Amino acid sequence: LPIKKAEFVSCFVDMKSLPDNQLPEIALVGRSNVGKSSLINKIVNRKNLAKSSSTPGKTRTINYYCINDSWYMVDLPGYGFAKVSKTEKEKWGRMIEKYLSGREPLRGVIQLLDIRHPPTQNDILMKEWLNHYQMPILLVATKADKVSRNEKQKNLAVIKKTFNLSPEQPLITFSAVTGEGVEEVKAAIEEILAE
Ligand code: GDP
Repeated sequence: LPIKKAEFVSCFVDMKSLPDNQLPEIALVGRSNVGKSSLINKIVNRKNLAKSSSTPGKTRTINYYCINDSWYMVDLPGYGFAKVSKTEKEKWGRMIEKYLSGREPLRGVIQLLDIRHPPTQNDILMKEWLNHYQMPILLVATKADKVSRNEKQKNLAVIKKTFNLSPEQPLITFSAVTGEGVEEVKAAIEEILAE
């Protein structure tokens, strides 16, 4: 999947205004700070295309990036963000749910998990929810550079067990720092887009 061109399209605060040109979409989900922006930047090989959710003032929106003029990478608001009101959380929850259940050009979802921690309740709910909608899922364990080799194997086993993954279900280990897993993620995206 050679990425020749990547551009930020826009941030959206509701479903009504999303692009309607029917280009296929791959969405990213995960808790805030899990590394979604870093993964996007690494995949498209640009330092600062996607802004970190820890950037002060970054609003929680659906962010669209157009790749090679042919598909969209869609960054959904991260869940589990501590510093917001319950009302705000519920609003994002509804927006994400509406997007994932009703977005026609959506082809698959990349679910990001921090390799250092067992999946959270929200991670588990998200996975079950995606399974329920029979959405193609790519599981990616981020920040792999932050754990030792031993910890990595141990923590991957915990994730697999928590999610009840069969041995053949892929779980890609990824690091935006070392580039580990970049090619695997790209190949998996290519496969989803080709289906
Ligand atoms: P987002 O909120 O999911 O978009 O997460 P970000 O991509 O903004 O990452 C949150 C924080 O984790 C930032 O400080 C990143 O620099 C850091 N981070 C993200 N990915 C990695 C990684 O693979 N390795 C390391 N060491 N840090 C990472």
